[in-house]
Amino acid sequence: MKKETLIIGGGISGLSLAWELSSLGISSTIVEKAPFMGGHVSNFACKATQTCQKCGACQLEDYLSKAFKADNVNILVSSSVDSVAQTGSHFMAKVSQRKSIVISDKCDDCGLCLKVCPVEGALIRPAFDSRLYISNEKCLNSNGVHCEACAQICPQDAVELQKKSQEVELEVGAIALCTGFAPYDPTQKLKFGYRRVPGVITTLELDSILRTGNFQSAAFGEAPKSIAFIQCVGSRDPRSGTNYCSQVCCGVSIRLACLIKNRYPEINVTIFYMDIQTFEREFDSTLDRAKNDIDFIRAMPSEIHSDENGFPAVIYHGGDETRQMIPFDLVVLAVGIVPRDPDLPGSFPGLWKNRDGFIGSDDNDVNAGHPGIFVAGAAQGPKSISACISHSIMAASQIKRYLDRAERGE
Ligand SMILES: Cc1cc2nc3c(=O)[nH]c(=O)nc-3n(C[C@H](O)[C@H](O)[C@H](O)COP(=O)(O)OP(=O)(O)OC[C@H]3O[C@@H](n4cnc5c(N)ncnc54)[C@H](O)[C@@H]3O)c2cc1C
Repeated sequence: MKKETLIIGGGISGLSLAWELSSLGISSTIVEKAPFMGGHVSNFACKATQTCQKCGACQLEDYLSKAFKADNVNILVSSSVDSVAQTGSHFMAKVSQRKSIVISDKCDDCGLCLKVCPVEGALIRPAFDSRLYISNEKCLNSNGVHCEACAQICPQDAVELQKKSQEVELEVGAIALCTGFAPYDPTQKLKFGYRRVPGVITTLELDSILRTGNFQSAAFGEAPKSIAFIQCVGSRDPRSGTNYCSQVCCGVSIRLACLIKNRYPEINVTIFYMDIQTFEREFDSTLDRAKNDIDFIRAMPSEIHSDENGFPAVIYHGGDETRQMIPFDLVVLAVGIVPRDPDLPGSFPGLWKNRDGFIGSDDNDVNAGHPGIFVAGAAQGPKSISACISHSIMAASQIKRYLDRAERGE
């Protein structure tokens, strides 16, 4: 019996699961499709003001260093699982890895490659790193299409495109799906003006801006004087097919708002909300403090449009049902958590999809519906970073129990 686990997805859930398994003496291989580890959390800013705000973002560094140091954790980035076959209690997984890269020592950051690349997101500059990475998932060349635009235009010869993928075969006793979530796509809500009205961004984009530096260095120029957050964009919305709470957005917006007030006390911050969901312990005191500095308006805006000065104006109906309009310099859409890659469960035999379209059952279970296949973190449903880590700890103990029983032939 192979006491080894294949972990698909190298976000906080995959990393914490690998570390927990390592502590239990079980080896694992993490297959991550992005060219770097960390998933969504890798772009989050630390939200500490004078004191730690317990946003959890720093936990990633901790688990990254533990996983990279552990000698029984093998990490494959820019990789994907092409097929899985089961023989008895073993799984044979075929993994392909592509190593197209931008050589950072040669790259002089001229930006020409970004201009000629025909696919948005194929060249990535993550918030945690000033270097450029090639996403093999999106790059045309990595997907068999003849395109060498970036390599041809690079005056420094810094782009190394690898045409052929490397194949790796893994024999494992268990598989853990830690494939995470996708942020709700706000272009689906035309009325909120994302990508249509200048000055409308998402909480993920704001997080990256605050992580990389400040507003002045961001694409839209100088620091805004007023910012509005719109809650529940793609959450608790049956018309969008997301009839559930994303659980993290209220905490995210309030922490981001407090961080902004701490760094730029002169900026006016307003939060539009339906009701504030505080899933976290001890969050009520954070909320009480936030109410001193931030305006809370209980209304779901009906529209955001560009006012006569080109700024985003939020239209909503106040308590007395009168139509109100407030212009802001920046509007931040608190996008929810939706299932990523809905086709994934189908590629494994007999996997469950829960009520909200995530992998697994409706409760917090780590079983994915097929013996030997487990799920951990946001792939199972909306969760905070700490909740993902707890879920991974639970998954590690269940995987150990499963592998022990399989070894005994039970
Ligand atoms: C706007 C926003 C802000 C947030 N801010 C906070 C916060 O401040 N604090 C907090 O506690 N939580 C926050 N969260 C929640 C947090 O993002 C999640 O808890 C966390 O990212 C979940 O981690 P994960 O590893 O399960 O998934 P992800 O972070 O989504 O990582 C999944 C990984 O799997 C990889 N992957 C996916 N499919 C495949 C595949 N088929 N093959 C190989 N690799 C694959 C992905 O590339 C990715 O690296 C926020 C969420 C949102 C939407």
